[in-house]
Amino acid sequence: MSVFSHVEFDRHEHVVFGHDKTTGLKAIIAIHDTTLGPALGGCRMWPYATDEAALRDVLRLSRGMTYKSALANLPLGGGKAVIIGDPRSGKSEALFQAMGDFVDSLGGRYITAADSGTGVAEMQIMAQRTRHVAGAGLREAFDGGTRDGDPSPSTAYGVFIGLKAAVKHRLGRDDLRGLKVAVQGVGQVGFDLARQLKEAGSELWVCDVFEGNLRRASEQLGATVVGPNDIYGLDVDVFAPCALGGIINPQTLEALRAPVIAGAANNQLADAELAEELRRRGCLYAPDYAINAGGIIDVCYERTGGTPAQLKAHIEGIGDTLRQIFERADAEGATTSAVADRLAHERLRAGR
Ligand code: NAD
Repeated sequence: MSVFSHVEFDRHEHVVFGHDKTTGLKAIIAIHDTTLGPALGGCRMWPYATDEAALRDVLRLSRGMTYKSALANLPLGGGKAVIIGDPRSGKSEALFQAMGDFVDSLGGRYITAADSGTGVAEMQIMAQRTRHVAGAGLREAFDGGTRDGDPSPSTAYGVFIGLKAAVKHRLGRDDLRGLKVAVQGVGQVGFDLARQLKEAGSELWVCDVFEGNLRRASEQLGATVVGPNDIYGLDVDVFAPCALGGIINPQTLEALRAPVIAGAANNQLADAELAEELRRRGCLYAPDYAINAGGIIDVCYERTGGTPAQLKAHIEGIGDTLRQIFERADAEGATTSAVADRLAHERLRAGR
């Protein structure tokens, strides 16, 4: 298995393989770039079929974190960790303590956080062994009260702000009253986004594959429930993907009628070239890694201190970043994805 000649290798600064004899931990940490600060990124646990698949994921995801943090104006670099194992059957306290030791061995160049297959509980175990963990403790929330380290409320708030910026740009309206929004996936982020839209007076259509989440959205928010395949073809103003990656693909594109796509899901475009097709059709796409940065901003503030009001203001900056992206895309006749990438590069270069 090659690393330096790997197709996903992008001059990463540090790629480390960790193994613990007692627990059987097998993990990889990749630090892509620390120009702007220590590398921060989630720790994913997944039953990768091969070591090569795990390496590919960690190289790709750590690079993505560099650009996400740069675009969000954060003093952070990009990194990621993967644990090769099944999150349903392979978890133990000792395993995550060993992972905490592995993270600690990098002396703070990499800061870990929750990701697919891990959560606040695992972060708390790792925090027994290293201080380079985010999202492990209780803190004051920007909308009042206290909450645990889960960054989802901040992600949802950022998506709400970004959605408003997209609606203003494409539909020329400030007021969300009567706006028709289809939310795909009403889990942690999707439900909280739908709640804010409801409060702003929007009309909601939702789908999910988990009955309990659908019931909550229909009972608490009065949302209309539709089947997972019917969400794309609705005659709505905004499609908000908050479930899976790759959901903008040639099949769904044919069905999609919304003039705005603004949601939380990572890697929404199945293929980068679809951005051009969206532009051609007059559909304004809010690039995923720009609009869903509320979570990483939240995690950064937890590390660096800063008041809840400062956190809220920084999340609201997502709206400014998106406005800049939309305006440049129009002026340059480029896709919003291409402009987001360029802006991230520029911010990274300015940091250098
Ligand atoms: P979640 O698991 O709480 O919610 C996802 C929801 O989507 C679940 O209710 C699930 O049942 C539903 N779902 C799964 N497959 C579906 C399908 N085919 N059709 C419709 N619904 C389906 O996850 P989350 O934390 O809310 O994250 C949602 C998305 O946002 C993910 O793509 C995640 O990577 C991304 N994201 C989340 C955060 C965060 O802070 N949680 C930050 C950045 C990006």
